[in-house]
Amino acid sequence: MKEIISKKVQKIKPSGIRQFFDLVLGMKEVISLGVGEPDFVTPWPIREVGIFSLEEGFTTYTSNKGLYKLRLTIARYLKNRYNLEYSPEDEILITVGVSEAFDLVLRAILNPQDKVLIPQPSYVSYEPLTELCGAIPIYIDTKDNDFKLTPEAIEKTVDNKTKAIILNYPNNPTGVSYRKKELEAIKKVILKHKLICISDEIYSDLTYDFEHIPFATLSKAKQYTVYLNGFSKSYAMTGWRVGYACGPKEIISAMTKIHQYAIMCVPTISQMAACEALHSARHLVEQMKQVYKRRREFIVKELNRIGLKCLKPDGAFYVFASIKDTGLNSLDFAQRLLKEKKVAVVPGTAFGRSGEGYIRISYTCSFENLKEAIIRIEDFLRNRKEKK
Ligand code: PLP
Repeated sequence: MKEIISKKVQKIKPSGIRQFFDLVLGMKEVISLGVGEPDFVTPWPIREVGIFSLEEGFTTYTSNKGLYKLRLTIARYLKNRYNLEYSPEDEILITVGVSEAFDLVLRAILNPQDKVLIPQPSYVSYEPLTELCGAIPIYIDTKDNDFKLTPEAIEKTVDNKTKAIILNYPNNPTGVSYRKKELEAIKKVILKHKLICISDEIYSDLTYDFEHIPFATLSKAKQYTVYLNGFSKSYAMTGWRVGYACGPKEIISAMTKIHQYAIMCVPTISQMAACEALHSARHLVEQMKQVYKRRREFIVKELNRIGLKCLKPDGAFYVFASIKDTGLNSLDFAQRLLKEKKVAVVPGTAFGRSGEGYIRISYTCSFENLKEAIIRIEDFLRNRKEKK
């Protein structure tokens, strides 16, 4: 039967996160610090519009590009917030989450054997989706520089077969983000080599200590950038499946071609709800962000206290903590912690080889659970020391 499956698909591995969480399913009293989604329910005003849309009978397809009303709302929002201008007519496409947007942009621009630079550790879908295009992922290991990408690291890796680079900030799994000066330096190399920059900024609203700066707002960067964002994380709307891509009209038009055949359009009621999110729920994003921020202070302090060293993340809702002092590898650590103490975390290797020696902890759970998780992890570490 195996030979029926395409060679490209045979070659890609299932997501390390999903694989690990299959283990969690069915276990009782587990505290999960594993999943990368908000623990909030979508704010009521957004849900209400979803319900209302159904009651009104908005049950047909929309334009392939997405509801014009939503594209216009996104265009206005980006203009007001960042002075970033995209035409709702032909520079914005509504997608099934950033996941689809990412797949479309790769398929729209890559030819077999093109190279794509992927700073690692990185979000799980970048590598397999690049490989499915027949392109070659080239990794840039960021761990020796506090998980930050540098212009020098790009310069060392790029060659004349390199077509694109993937940026993701704030980053999943490290939480690292960049200030303007750092982005400007990165941009210089990207423009020098005329790379397409696919900028996944899905956690932009969850930047805690400084203003998020979209890559496309840097001078001369816009024509080389495809800006990806969505509603899943900021508005706690993971299940609604709405994201968007903004970029040069040639790229957006190519993406729309694939989207129109593969997807047709994003579910209409989800698009209506997303529109409402931008109209009336901005203050609720801020409220959720403040909750994450308080949890971040707590978890970073506690992890460092018990000996799992970690940097304070700039954004998103993850901490990437070192487990090197325990003598265990990432997978062993995560599996034993789950088995012995019923705390689920994600092994760093789920995000690439450079994640070895780390675990990802999501602080998308209640304070009570975070406190209890710390007690259990501390106990786990104490038991290991005693056994040594
Ligand atoms: N990009 C990053 C960095 C993510 O962490 C995720 C989800 O975890 C996604 C994209 C996918 O998000 P969406 O729900 O919009 O498809």
